[in-house]
Formats: sequence, structure tokens, C-alpha cells
Amino acid sequence: MSDSATTALDSRGSAASQDFIRALVAEELRTGKVQHVATRFPPEPNGYLHIGHAKSICLNFGVARDFGGTCNLRFDDTNPTKEDVEYVESIEADVRWLGFEWQELRFASDYFEQLYEYARDLIRRGLAYVDSLSPDEVRERRGTLTEPGRDSPYRDRSVEENLDLFARMRNGEFEDGAQVLRAKIDMASPNINMRDPVLYRIRHAHHHRTGDAWCIYPMYDFAHPPSDALEHITHSLCTLEYEDHRPLYDWLIENLPVPATPRQIEFARLNLTYTVMSKRRLLELVQEGRVSGWDDPRMPTLVGMRRRGYTPEAIRVFCERIGVAKRENVVDVALLEHAVREDLNLRAPRVLAVVRPLRVVIENYPEGQTEEVDVVNNPEDPSAGTRKVPFSRELFIERDDFMEQPPKKFFRLAPRREVRLRCAYFITCTSVVKDPSTGEVVEVRCTYDPATRGGDAPDGRRVKATLHWVSAAHGVDAEVRLYDRLFNAEEPGATHDYREDLNPSSLEVVTHCKLEPSAAALPAGSRVQFERIGYFCADPDTRPEAPVFNRTVTLKDSYKP
Ligand code: ATP
Ligand code: MG
Repeated sequence: MSDSATTALDSRGSAASQDFIRALVAEELRTGKVQHVATRFPPEPNGYLHIGHAKSICLNFGVARDFGGTCNLRFDDTNPTKEDVEYVESIEADVRWLGFEWQELRFASDYFEQLYEYARDLIRRGLAYVDSLSPDEVRERRGTLTEPGRDSPYRDRSVEENLDLFARMRNGEFEDGAQVLRAKIDMASPNINMRDPVLYRIRHAHHHRTGDAWCIYPMYDFAHPPSDALEHITHSLCTLEYEDHRPLYDWLIENLPVPATPRQIEFARLNLTYTVMSKRRLLELVQEGRVSGWDDPRMPTLVGMRRRGYTPEAIRVFCERIGVAKRENVVDVALLEHAVREDLNLRAPRVLAVVRPLRVVIENYPEGQTEEVDVVNNPEDPSAGTRKVPFSRELFIERDDFMEQPPKKFFRLAPRREVRLRCAYFITCTSVVKDPSTGEVVEVRCTYDPATRGGDAPDGRRVKATLHWVSAAHGVDAEVRLYDRLFNAEEPGATHDYREDLNPSSLEVVTHCKLEPSAAALPAGSRVQFERIGYFCADPDTRPEAPVFNRTVTLKDSYKP
């Protein structure tokens, strides 16, 4: 093993260092088969990146980092009709946000001229031909898993005729679908991908980078192997559905005069419970207005998760924990929620915020008086210090923290019961005020014990609950968006249209929540813990006079390690 590989593995010492891809790379470095590890992340710019892509990003950039190699970002932009610069820009931003930097930024379209020359090369060697069958006829002759395909009548065109037709395809002499360029491999191959696969198709379409320069576009399967070779990629990591394409990958690398011999290695894609990850479906959710956009905090996109309050660290830790394997599986989304909860627990400053306020009046507290109590910013991080929070005669507590007729296990505020207000005083409920028409409790009257300032009684008496609170005169009204899972089926669409599994209560907007004043002006993207409630992130819509917070996750963990 080379020195750099040894140190990388030792210093990581985690499960990720043990995965089969890293083991193989380490072995190739040891035997000298590979000297410099080069990977690439190859998104198609036809949508926003999602958590599944994060797995691929962490793997490709992570392997390069661990073995002292390099990783390129290469846009696989071979399909002009679905691609857009908006996606290119978002993908670059998302990769950087996740914490990775590419060696080189490339586009498959950078290689169009070279790929065209490679295709001509195949023709000259008798390994490709122009087929004038219609797309339907090509499909009909492809055969099935049990039956071989049939040769096209155009399969044996001369090299000259093929070169001429291919040049005329490029020159725009034919309509879309009139001709295709196919590899000449084996129509009887048991692997359908080897039955003279299409290499080029005609598409009179504007391309986001090459404009109208081309009206023929290479297929992904044709473009990818030589693009890898041109960048001297050593390990071309892709998801399992490409396993059956590997013989074609290898065939192209063998038969094209390319400068390197990359190797394709497949791994299992990430599937998550309660989540759809297909870009087609995500696009539908956006286009049909079922979510507010690609960055809707309920989307599994990186822009959505960022807006929701996910940290790149949590996503990277999650990707490391799920590991990389060869077998398809479904990961419990609770593991992802667990990762962000764990990260934010260590880092997020605590805030006193009341989501559903109930007014409390402390009858023996002087009217008009305000004092400041010291509140710990983060019990997990003593260096985060404390802050001053205003306390006064009228406060809000959480509606759920009071019950007029408490059941046995309810230990929070109730008539005649004493509880602690966090970092402030003990209070005892003396009476309630009800709405005469509905009977609903609208105000709780209490007394406080001035000797309990800071939250402890000098006589050592105990209370069973500590409540969060916000001073009524000082609290700032906020909008809080409570997000839940977008789908309420573990496998959306398993037996019917996935849209039927949309969770109708995946978003609840609560207005007139009360925030302690220090939290009101936090800039968009700030992540905090609302004590006893959950982790929240200031939304881009937030304004100091009208704060808006998204719930990232509740405090409660449903994940059982
Ligand atoms: P499409 O159907 O549009 O090709 P895709 O999900 O494969 O969708 P790409 O942009 O081609 O999207 O993906 C870029 C890279 O990310 C590919 O190498 C792909 O294999 C990988 N990738 C995509 N989805 C997942 C996933 N769920 N888990 C792991 N890797 C993924
Ligand atoms: Mg793809």
C-alpha cells in the first residue's frame, strides 16, 4: 500500500474506510495498477441534486480525498432538451455547500467534437453503422430477454456510405429520428445493451452550451466511457443499474483510441423510506405545485434540506454511516433525521420560543417591572456562554404545558401545582381565566416565589417540570412552519400513484408564535434549538420585524441505533 493510502485509511478508521470500493482502490495502489486515483461526479443538469446524489458526491470526492487523488465535476449534458443552466449553477453550489471542491469542471459537451471523431473511427473500423430504420423498427428488432434481436437491413453498409451518412446527419440533412448511428456488436448477445446500441441520435434542439452547433447528440452510454478516459479517470463509480452497461463501457474503451483505461464500478443507490428520489417525480411535484419549489423544505433536494436547516456535516456523517455496498437496500429516513439532530444538538444555540402561546400572569410580581435572567446558550457547549432574557409579570408558556384537569402522568402546570420557569422562578398556578363562550382557558394566574430566582429553591423543594416561556411585553411574533414528512407511506407509490401517498399535513404554518427578542433578528439560515420543541432554521422569508422559522426536526428521536 502506498504511504498516502495507508495514512488515509488509518486516520479515518471508520466504516467508510472499509467499503468494497476503498478496499479495491487501496489494493490497486498497493500493486501499482493505479498510481493516482481520479474520480468524477457526473450529474445530468436536468434537475436539482438530492440526498441520493449526496451519497455519490461523498463517495467520489471522499475516495479521491482519502487516497490523495482528484475528483472532477463533469456535467453529463448530452440531452439538450431537458437541460438548463439553472441546474448547472445549482449543482455547482450544492457540491460546494456539501464541502467539496472539484479538481476540474468539465462538460460532456466539451468533448462533442472529439466524440464525433471517435464515432468516425468506429465506422472506419467497421464497428459502427448508420441505421435508417425508424426508432420503432429499431425497437421491434431488438428482441427480448429470451429472444435474440434481428440484424438491421442497413447493418452492412460500406464504411464510405456510413461516413457519408454520418456527416450528413451532422450537417442537418435529416429529420429527428430518420437515422441513428449504432455500434456493430452482436444482435444475438444475451445482454440487450450489446445488441448494436445506438450511439448517436438526431435532435434538432438548442443546447444550453453548444447552442445550435450540433443537431446530433451522443447517447449517454457512448459519451461516458471516452469522457472518463479523456480525463484519465481511474474509477468510474456509478449506481447498480449500470451494471448491465459495463460490457458496453469496456467494449468502447477497448475499441476507441482513448488515452486511458478507466474502470467502471457499481454501487447500490440510496433509497430512503417516506421519500421519492426520482428526478422525474421531484420535477412533477414542483411543476404540479404540490410543493413550493425545488427548495421546498420538504423536498429531499439539497436546496430543500438546506432551507429546512440540515447541515452539510450532518449529511456527510449520514452518508458515511450508511456506507457503500453492492446490494440494494432502503435506509430508514429516521437515520437521516438522527444525524441532523445529533449535529445540531452540539452546535445550535438554544432559544426560548413558544409556538402556541398561553398567557400567564404572575399576580405577586410587580406591575411594570422587568428583570433580566441569565440563560445558558448551549448546555452541550460551555464556551457558548449565557445571554440575558427579559422576564416580567406577563408571560407566555406553551398551551400544551398547562392542563386544568391533568391526567396522572402529566407533571407540567396545573391548578395548585408548582413548576419551574427555565432559568427564572418557580411559579404556582392559582386560578384560570376562561373564555365565557367556549370555556377555553385563555389565561393562567400564578404566583411566584422570589427566593427561587435562577431556578432553584433554597429550601431544596423540588418541582417535576421546567417550562420554557417568553415575556409577553418583549416577545416578538413569529411565523413558524412545522414540517413533517412529505409522504406518509414508507414506500410512496408502491401499489398506486405516489401522489396518493402525499401527507396532507406535511406543512402546518403557525403564526403569532412568540420568540425571545434575541432570536428575532437572526439572519436567514441561522439554526437554533427552540428549547423543548425542536431544531429550527430561519427561512429566507424571515425579517427582523416578522421572523419566519422552519422546523428542521423535532427533538424526539424515533431512530433506535
Ligand atoms: P437520471 O435518471 O436523470 O439519470 P440520476 O438520478 O441518475 O437520474 P444523474 O444526474 O445522472 O441522476 O446522477 C448523477 C450521479 O449520481 C450518477 O452517478 C448517479 O448514479 C448518482 N446517483 C443518482 N441517484 C442516486 C442515488 N439515489 N444514490 C446514489 N447515487 C445516485
Ligand atoms: Mg443518470
